Amino acid sequence: MSSVNYSVVMTTEVAAALRRHLLQHIRKGQRQEDLCFALWKPSTGRTRTTAVLTEVVLPAANETRLHGGASFLPSYLDRVAEAAMSRNAGIALLHSHFTPGWQGMSGEDIDTERSTAPSILGETGLPLVGLTMGTDGALSGRFWTRVGRREYERRWCGTVRVVGDGFGVTFMDELAPKPRFKEELKRTYSAWGEEKQHTLARLHCGVVGVGSVGAIIAESLARMGVETISLIDFDKVKKLNLDRLLHASVDDIGRFKVELVKEHLSKHATADSVDVRPERMAVTRESGLRAALDCDVLFSCVDRPWPRQVLNMVAFAHQIPVVDGGVHVRVKPDGSMRGARWGAHGAMPGRACLECLGQFDPANVTLEKQGLLDDPTYIERLPEDHVLRRNENVFGFALSASGMMLCQFLNMVVQPVGIGDPGVQTYHFATGMMDTDLRSACTAGCLFHEHMGAGDRFPFPVVDADETNVEPSTGQVPWWTKWSRLAKNWLWLGGRVGSDPGRSSGRTGRGA
Ligand SMILES: [Zn+2]
Ligand SMILES: [Zn+2]
Repeated sequence: MSSVNYSVVMTTEVAAALRRHLLQHIRKGQRQEDLCFALWKPSTGRTRTTAVLTEVVLPAANETRLHGGASFLPSYLDRVAEAAMSRNAGIALLHSHFTPGWQGMSGEDIDTERSTAPSILGETGLPLVGLTMGTDGALSGRFWTRVGRREYERRWCGTVRVVGDGFGVTFMDELAPKPRFKEELKRTYSAWGEEKQHTLARLHCGVVGVGSVGAIIAESLARMGVETISLIDFDKVKKLNLDRLLHASVDDIGRFKVELVKEHLSKHATADSVDVRPERMAVTRESGLRAALDCDVLFSCVDRPWPRQVLNMVAFAHQIPVVDGGVHVRVKPDGSMRGARWGAHGAMPGRACLECLGQFDPANVTLEKQGLLDDPTYIERLPEDHVLRRNENVFGFALSASGMMLCQFLNMVVQPVGIGDPGVQTYHFATGMMDTDLRSACTAGCLFHEHMGAGDRFPFPVVDADETNVEPSTGQVPWWTKWSRLAKNWLWLGGRVGSDPGRSSGRTGRGA
């Protein structure tokens, strides 16, 4: 297990605003750096701390001095500190250099950041984050961590990520070395070239839900040379999984799915050293969420509304792209097939969120939190074709849905002919037609959109604490728990719980 590492993420809009300002002189052919401040929110995974850059605070004319290099006046920092405090945010200091690619620091850079770090920590409670932009827009980043009385140490970021309309990562090669070319990956390299393969291989990919779809996706990632794969699932292999769970055999019944899949990925991976992390936990719990926040990209292969809601929050508040998909089979009363469809789409800044796309209903999240989705008598009372009752799936359908999800991911990373978003795709089994929606967007007032980049400071709790003792999907919920939950919900509907934001977390939709 690697030690704590650091990263910075921002939307393509924030990155574009930074480029416009920091590279303005260089673009005109002048040898002149520039600088500015930005605000950030913390996003804390289990092994990675990320600064989510949310807002650029440009300097006024008299707040900086340009002299080949660039420096700022105290009045600028004062103004930024005020903005940071009013937004409950941290402060980042950015400047530009004259060469392309990842940027190191001059002695003067180090002095400036080290001497600014104490006052910024004092004002915001968060470490100074320093970033340097190369002429091509590549960014290097570091956190200035307090290690003793007035003693600050520089912690380099392994990655600086830009997500949204485009997807780009600047890696620090020292912390995340480029993979060497391998004969095993010759056909993969030649499909999209060395540069894209170097990005793909070094992305930390997370598969949430290692069922029929998740296991296929994990296998594909390992075959394509991805070096770090987290598998997040608390479930064990059951007999009724054997018709569609890749790698599973009769002997595996009762094993944790993540352990089974890890065993096979380790054998099939093409990377020199693959780090597969089996996380036997639910993403709806604190620890599962933390494991997800370590990732650069997440695959949502879950079949329940609550984990989808959690991943939706992660996609926007923490700006980790989520590739979501699923299979829906409709059956006639006589047991024959009415139809089937499956699809794939990406949730990330610049695209519609999963709630606005109708991929989960917040009302069903509330039911799931109450344990009702694991209550057979409750499920039996639902209409035959209710979405919560239907869980038919077939290996071939899962294979097709997985393929569509992988192509959504690859499209985002490889960006063939400059396109990185194939749209919201739905394939209809009966007709063989594919619907594509290229213009999806969140509806007005969407909470996930509104709290874009909030990181750990997303104002509504969406996961349960680890110690909650009712394990997800174990079935039995004691009748008294159900009644007390129903009673609480009744109070909530009556508007009595308005002062308790924790209670309203069941509906992160648009309020009651
Ligand atoms: Zn510099
Ligand atoms: Zn939305």
